Amino acid sequence: PSTPQWLESWTPAGGARRVRTVFSDAFDGDAPDGVWFAPGRVNLIGEHTDYNAGLCLPTALPHRTYVALRAREDGVVRLVSAQTPDEPWEARLSDVAPGSVSGWGAYVSGVAWALAEAGHKVRGFDAAVDSCVPFGAGLSSSASLEAAFAVAIDGVDGLGLAATDAGRTELVDACRRAENEIAGAPTGGLDQSASLRCAEGRALLLDFRPGLSALESGRPVSFDPAAAGLELLVVDTHAPHSHVDGEYGARRADCERAADLLGLENLREIEPDGLDAALAELAPHDAEGILARRVRHVVTETERTARFVDLVSRGLVAEVGPLMTASHASLRYDYEVSCRELDLVVDTAMAAGAVGARMTGGGFGGSAIALVPRDDVERVANAVNRAFAEAGLTAPAFLAAPPSAGAGAV
Ligand code: ADP
Ligand code: MG
Repeated sequence: PSTPQWLESWTPAGGARRVRTVFSDAFDGDAPDGVWFAPGRVNLIGEHTDYNAGLCLPTALPHRTYVALRAREDGVVRLVSAQTPDEPWEARLSDVAPGSVSGWGAYVSGVAWALAEAGHKVRGFDAAVDSCVPFGAGLSSSASLEAAFAVAIDGVDGLGLAATDAGRTELVDACRRAENEIAGAPTGGLDQSASLRCAEGRALLLDFRPGLSALESGRPVSFDPAAAGLELLVVDTHAPHSHVDGEYGARRADCERAADLLGLENLREIEPDGLDAALAELAPHDAEGILARRVRHVVTETERTARFVDLVSRGLVAEVGPLMTASHASLRYDYEVSCRELDLVVDTAMAAGAVGARMTGGGFGGSAIALVPRDDVERVANAVNRAFAEAGLTAPAFLAAPPSAGAGAV
């Protein structure tokens, strides 16, 4: 097989240069008011826990979406993207509403719409986009697009929200509403929180228990693999994920049914040491043991996330490997959301020297992560690349992922 394909991240200066060129090519050589960026994200652990009121732990990638933007006084939005050169996009802000716009500009105009709905004075704009976050790899290119525009609009319209973590939770909410109500994708806010609230050298512990304020629900956690001689490697499997939406809905329905049968508001109410009792209570309603497997994943996954946080916040990054690998096994056998490509990355990376590896994101394709000793990274990438070639699979792509900054101005 050929050598592993690495998806390089851009430096802020490099990303800004690229997007300024896209802007001046599209808008008559003019200069933007500024350049902003927002990262893609990868979830370290805590999968399929968000809609079960559980814990998850994303971190920001150095791979980012860059936006060059100039405000307009006439309420018009005009957009171009280097990733969709055949789809320039235009609308009047006053025409943006649920069900009224389509195409990639829905993610962008949706953010402006949601900020206006929240009572902010938002102007129209001309904007250009360029990004090295791959689409549909489970690394949240859509949230990075929304978040980049959230901080850009915040900047040009002087909203002042990006300056504080509390303000950023309002931007998170605008991005989530844009994705849910204008782009029509049912996501829960994890991705937008990660892109807007992560920081360099940190992961973001998100707690989806009801009753917490947006601010209380997110806490930065020190995460420094480099200090432990490790690198976080992301592998985009390029697997075609066709069943995602249906299977995702089915898993959510399983969890809701289990909670109903147990008379609980959500599965977070099951303490780890109450798991066996809960499973026994489900058994009469669950001949094939499907609900039991779903519940066991959800409860043990939040427990693993808490233990992961405890280790990394004490600097014991090298000790999280078994938690990652147990998370993968749980997703593979109990939650049944893995696939051949994800399993192949995990098994091959572990055999080639990774200290831990797991699928990340919703499953059925997308990406896997591996925590790898610095000196073994090339060997692991080569082994995974070779395994894919030998299995006759499309070559994967590799991303080096030191925990990076959240959205901001360049
Ligand atoms: P992901 O897992 O990458 O978030 P999604 O399907 O949620 O996958 O979002 C991908 C969509 O987001 C693309 O199809 C496109 O509509 C939009 N998008 C993301 N980044 C860009 C970009 N740089 N330029 C144009 N559209 C983008
Ligand atoms: Mg997305």
